[in-house]
Parts: sequence; structure tokens; C-alpha cells
Amino acid sequence: LTHLWEVKAYTLSIETNIRILPLKTLLVYLELKGIIKSMYTYFEEYSFKLFHEPEEIIRRFKGERRQLVQAMFDHSETKKVWTNIDIEGLLSDYHVPRARVVKALEYFDQQEWIELKTGQAVDVYNIRSNNFDVDQLAVQLLEIYQQKEKREVQRIHQMVRFFESKNCLSRNLSLYFGEKGIERCGHCSVCAAGKATIPPSKPLPPLSTYNVSELTSGISEVSESTLSAAVLTKFLCGISSPMFMKRKIKQLPEYGMLEDYPYREVEAWVKKESQ
Ligand SMILES: [Zn+2]
Repeated sequence: LTHLWEVKAYTLSIETNIRILPLKTLLVYLELKGIIKSMYTYFEEYSFKLFHEPEEIIRRFKGERRQLVQAMFDHSETKKVWTNIDIEGLLSDYHVPRARVVKALEYFDQQEWIELKTGQAVDVYNIRSNNFDVDQLAVQLLEIYQQKEKREVQRIHQMVRFFESKNCLSRNLSLYFGEKGIERCGHCSVCAAGKATIPPSKPLPPLSTYNVSELTSGISEVSESTLSAAVLTKFLCGISSPMFMKRKIKQLPEYGMLEDYPYREVEAWVKKESQ
């Protein structure tokens, strides 16, 4: 018995508030753990622009093929520019594998009789095991991602330190790769113009002058569940998240209101104030 799981990445991304790329990585982790297995991908919807009349395309085929092509156009409806094909309806009336219909559409596209457009992709997975602890696995995966995030932030700090160095940049690079290197290269920005300083951010009023519940009442009102400090911080700092695609969250006046403040400061403040 096989259990199939159909995933629409875009929909799942908004539902879970995880961006598409890390979401796909998470699915790979589940696959490596032997929980799911990627089977195939299909597109739920196909539409096309016609460059030839349907009759002209149908006439190019004979016998059973012509019947199929005829059936395909019988199950299509032309709007202003795009023609939508009702694949589900076609499959139930004309008992033919989905792959054959898709192949035919792709062939028409190659021949430049139509311009084919696909809708949302559906990734189909086989669920191989349900012998695992969901909560435990979630904690495990969360830890992997939190460590990744920490390493990335450290790398950015390292890079800033590197460019703010008072020593020759070529020398720093050599030291970084474990080579001794020269004292001064004579043409990097430090040798040429001296130490660079990243200008301090403009003076801002302390966060304590704001009221967390006031700033987040708008987003809380349109959300079904209680929002975590991380989500509220992203909202106030104007960092886009998949769930912000819903309900015009980005159009709320408080979106990005604290974008000039460092993320960590806002996060600590939100956590403290919402206790
Ligand atoms: Zn130099």
C-alpha cells in the first residue's frame, strides 16, 4: 500500500510561513531520513495561446491521435488570450494517461502551434514511514536551521570586521588562508586610503518610546493564531515572510516601521514587552 502526498510548494510555503527554498531543503531532509520519497511532479493547470486555428491543428493528425487532439480542444475554453484545458474532465471522458495529454501539448508548443503555460506544480511524494516522533523531528530540524542562521550571521560579522581592518586587506586574506604574506600590498583600500569605517546608523529614539501592542494590533487582528516574536519582529523590521502575502499584511502602516533598528534589538524588545 502506498501513501501519496501531494505538495504544492507555494501553498505550503504560505501555510507554514517557510520560504520556498528552505522548505524544499526540509523536504530533502525528510527524504534523507527515509520518511518520504520524491516520486514525480505534475502541473495542475495548463493553458495556451493559439497561433493556429484548432481545426488546422486537428487536421494534422490521423486516426486515434486525431480523436485525442479533437477531445483536447473539446475540453478547452478560450478566454480573451489564453485557452484553458480542463485536463481532469478530459481524463475522465477520454480514458487516456495524463502524461499523453501533456506530451501532446508540449509537442504543439515545440511546433509553435501554441504557446504553452503551466500553472502551479504539484510534487508527489510517497510516504515511506510514519514511524517517527513528529515533535522530536521538528525540534531536530529546527536546531539544524538555527545553527545555519547563526553561522550565516557570524559570517556577515566576520566580513564587516575584515573590511574595517586597519591592516592591509591582501595581508589579511593571506593570513585567513594560513599563508604568511607580505606586510603591505600597497594598492588595496587600506594601503591606499587607510582604515574604512562603516558609518554608524542615524540616531534613533529608543525602542521604549514605542508600544508593542499598538504596533502589532493590526497584524494580530488579521491573523488566525498567536504570532511568534520572530514573526512580529520581521513584520516591524519590514522583512518579507511568506505569510505576509496573505490579507494585505504588507500594506498595514506598521509594516517596516522599525526597519532602521537592528533586528536582534527589535526581537529582544518584542520578547520582553510581550511577556
Ligand atoms: Zn594592502
